[in-house]
Amino acid sequence: MPPPGGPRGARGFLTPEEKQNRPKITAKLLKRIFSYLTPYIPQLLLVMAAIIVSSFFSIYPSILTGGMVDAIAGGVVRISGPVGAVIRAVAGNDAFRTLLTLIGASFALFIISNLINIAQSYLNAWIAQHITFDMKNALYAHLQKMPHRFFSTSKQGDIITRMTSDADGVQQTITGTLTQLISNSSTLIIALIAMYRKSWILATVGVIMVPFFVIPTKTVGKKRWELTRRSQEKNDEINQILNETLSVSGQLLVKLFTAEEREYKKYFEANKARVALSLRESMVGRWFMFAIGTFTNIGPMLIYLVGGLLVLRYGGDLTVGDITIMVSLLSRLYMPVNSLLNIQVDMIRSMALFTRLFDYFDMKLEIENAPDAVVPADVTGNLRFEDVTFSYEPDKQILKDVSFEVKPGRSVAIVGPSGAGKSTIINLIPRLYDVTGGSVELDGTDIRKLDLNFLRRNIGVVNQDTYLFNGTIKENLLYAKPDAADSELIDACRDANIHDFIESLSNGYDTVIGNRGIKLSGGERQRLSIARAILKDTKILILDEATSSLDSISESLIQDAIDPLLRGRTSIVIAHRLSTVMSADEILVISDGVIVERGTHRELVPLGGVYTELYETQFRRALEEQEAARSAGA
Ligand code: ATP
Repeated sequence: MPPPGGPRGARGFLTPEEKQNRPKITAKLLKRIFSYLTPYIPQLLLVMAAIIVSSFFSIYPSILTGGMVDAIAGGVVRISGPVGAVIRAVAGNDAFRTLLTLIGASFALFIISNLINIAQSYLNAWIAQHITFDMKNALYAHLQKMPHRFFSTSKQGDIITRMTSDADGVQQTITGTLTQLISNSSTLIIALIAMYRKSWILATVGVIMVPFFVIPTKTVGKKRWELTRRSQEKNDEINQILNETLSVSGQLLVKLFTAEEREYKKYFEANKARVALSLRESMVGRWFMFAIGTFTNIGPMLIYLVGGLLVLRYGGDLTVGDITIMVSLLSRLYMPVNSLLNIQVDMIRSMALFTRLFDYFDMKLEIENAPDAVVPADVTGNLRFEDVTFSYEPDKQILKDVSFEVKPGRSVAIVGPSGAGKSTIINLIPRLYDVTGGSVELDGTDIRKLDLNFLRRNIGVVNQDTYLFNGTIKENLLYAKPDAADSELIDACRDANIHDFIESLSNGYDTVIGNRGIKLSGGERQRLSIARAILKDTKILILDEATSSLDSISESLIQDAIDPLLRGRTSIVIAHRLSTVMSADEILVISDGVIVERGTHRELVPLGGVYTELYETQFRRALEEQEAARSAGA
């Protein structure tokens, strides 16, 4: 009899959360899941056939065991079918030869069944890997097309979980749940047929016994699962207490508020509750083993009793071997029934995984290529905002009637108080978001009508929050232009004032810069990012100047890097430095999503409006600080 396992029983229950999020299993969902299996139908059929054959071969030795018992007892060996015929042909009427043949056949069946199992496992893993491979690729491609809004609002952990453990869970479903369903059903059916063919009375006795194995497993399993869950919750509570009270700041709080006694009581109570739960949990396991053990023994005894009664009292034609077969087959009933009962839960879990993945697939792409998107032959770099309105959320308008034009090669500086909408304006240019009203035009064409790749290829962006990945400096630079020659990289870095620094590193351009460029200073990261924009060499450039104050040397290094970057390009700069503002062809002053002033520095300062205030508070102070730092350095 298979060992009755507590955890096995526990496996078959849903957590309250799972119950709450239980997916609706509809024909549409099943059809959608099936569509992923469709390309692998021939392989799936082969796996099914292999499982059925292997279940048959694994049960047959039980029947042969009966034959062995009869051969030893000198009785008639009654094995029907082609296997029986082969055995009779090989062994004739000799009991010992029959015994040897049966042992040989049993062994051969065992080997064959296991070989088939190995082949089946490989094929099964192959199918599962390929299905998840297809799913993961499709999902990754889909996520790449998701809008910026999706990534800025979703939890990053959630996206990664769906791409990894959810998708792997789907694989587990195919390798585990599906094969278990087929293998348990076929084992169950084959065992039942074999038993009923031998003796319907004993088979019925066996079937009647099944609920006695299943019910305790199910009930006690449920109880145990509940206790495990509660004890887990208690453990979490204890960990929470430890984390809160044994950390530096936690201990400080406890000491200053003399809360030692209070905290100790809390810990003591939680610990006591956990001990009680653990004890109950292990005792439930004991009773469970006892119940199953009892029925494990009663089952065969009942079969011997009824079998004996039939043979001894009613002159039934059953042999000792037949009764042995029935006992041995009885064990074959228990496992599959129990597993099949658990499969329902596995199925619900699998459906939930599929549903979670499909949720992502069904999310609207929002920013897509228009069906008639055009790819112009060239870009001159004329950028125009025409009565642009925009809102992130329906009822909160961020930009209102923003109109301006940047002629090819000219520069516009956007200034304004924090939260005014400056970043929002620049986000609309590479279509990280689409306008909600009006239009953004590049060379006279609405950017929503341009090919998205074309548009983004022609826009260079240097962000405040420079994104560098963990690789070498060279790899980070090549991201902008994968086929750039070394000399191009060096030229770009010279222009960006970062070449000398890179050369001073022991590994030069092959230096690994750590996660998000952590091994570089803020100023170095910015200059590297500028070098990357120079390499990309686009007609349009968006520059979000860093607000973080740098020392005067870094400031001037960056300023010297920005000048060649802006030269000859249509540029839109969110400016935080007076020098950038002063060199812009036009300054747009944004306040509350509206352009409130526009003009050159000279024109705006005397107005006494928002710009004058910004100049007084922000730019002039920054300039004074820089000058103070410079003279202190000198
Ligand atoms: P700062 O100078 O501080 O960077 P900003 O002028 O660039 O400010 P924006 O980042 O454009 O301002 O933000 C304008 C408004 O839009 C703010 O009120 C901000 O809270 C809101 N906002 C920005 N991004 C989002 C978003 N992803 N979802 C919802 N609201 C947003």
